[in-house]
Amino acid sequence: MADEIITANNLDESALPLSEGCRMPVRMRNLDETLLAEILSIKETTDGDNLYYVHYIDFNKRLDEWVGKDRLDLTKVQQPKKEVKTPLKEIKNGSRPCSPEREVIIKEEPIQLLQNGNVPPKKSTAGRKRKFPPGPDEVSTSDSKDAAPSPRTTGSLVAHHDDLITRMKNIEMIELGGHMIRPWYFSPYPQELVSLPCIYLCEFCLKYMKSRICLKRHMVYAQNLCLLAKCFLDHKTLYYDTDPFLFYVMTELDNSGFHIVGYFSKEKESTEDYNVACILTLPPYQRKGYGKLLIEFSYELSKFEGKTGSPEKPLSDLGLLSYRSYWTGAILEILVNVKPTEPGERPQITIQEISEQTSIKKQDVISTLQHLNLIHYYKGQ
Ligand SMILES: [Zn+2]
Repeated sequence: MADEIITANNLDESALPLSEGCRMPVRMRNLDETLLAEILSIKETTDGDNLYYVHYIDFNKRLDEWVGKDRLDLTKVQQPKKEVKTPLKEIKNGSRPCSPEREVIIKEEPIQLLQNGNVPPKKSTAGRKRKFPPGPDEVSTSDSKDAAPSPRTTGSLVAHHDDLITRMKNIEMIELGGHMIRPWYFSPYPQELVSLPCIYLCEFCLKYMKSRICLKRHMVYAQNLCLLAKCFLDHKTLYYDTDPFLFYVMTELDNSGFHIVGYFSKEKESTEDYNVACILTLPPYQRKGYGKLLIEFSYELSKFEGKTGSPEKPLSDLGLLSYRSYWTGAILEILVNVKPTEPGERPQITIQEISEQTSIKKQDVISTLQHLNLIHYYKGQ
């Protein structure tokens, strides 16, 4: 590519007084000083002006930037010297021939094939173009012609060829969890994204998206959770407004991360003392006690709030079984531990007290005791 540029310069030097390789003092961003810099690339803006990608000599290339003509000191332009060929066998990691910075010199590694079996072109005029691995659904990566060259697709970040494309920063801005971050170096994000003024990353899974709308859509975990849950909850209505609810998600942790097991949702404000709206253990995790743990947790929250609570009705058949089992265990534990107030007397406890100690709503205490045949109406009460 360098050959081509030089040829073009020679052909048309008058029309293009500034070409790649020219050096001159350039005013650095956020700095009043001008520093000697070299033009690495030139592009035309939509209003017909040129922008110049400059590298400040003797400075790390993270300071490289696109500048307008107004920042170039055109009185001191040095025309490009003869091109210096870099030996092919040895490449400098993240450096360029004109940079005197010390960098580790490493051997060129064989480039791995991509998953789709594409063989990267051995030596194309525009550097080594390789197809980026399958991209996000938000953007199409089908256009392999424009795909950015990328380092190896597996493993860690490894040395890449110091070609023109990878030595230029390609991303203007990244938004990550409320931070706007200006990248320092090239990174092979899909071509469709790098032309944008900003790339939006999910701060949790780091997925990249082209707009804040895409990011917002990506972030609606609660809505997606409700959709999934509806597959296993027959009698619930799916509301897309998830804002009035809190979601408590239970996960199993292993070496590969957190795996959703189940969840419950809870109204932030319940006029009917509901402490659970929807509750679900996903089928692969059922019959392992997770449902009981979720229920228990919901009552612990109620205890913490100093309230009694009850699940939103109607309960599913399995939901009722789980709740019955939990209520029975919790209430019986209270009953077997009731101590008499006076020695020799019969221990006594009221339904109100059971309810207060367990945070189980009175009606649920009564229905459980009835179900266990432990309660009898006496004189109509
Ligand atoms: Zn994410």
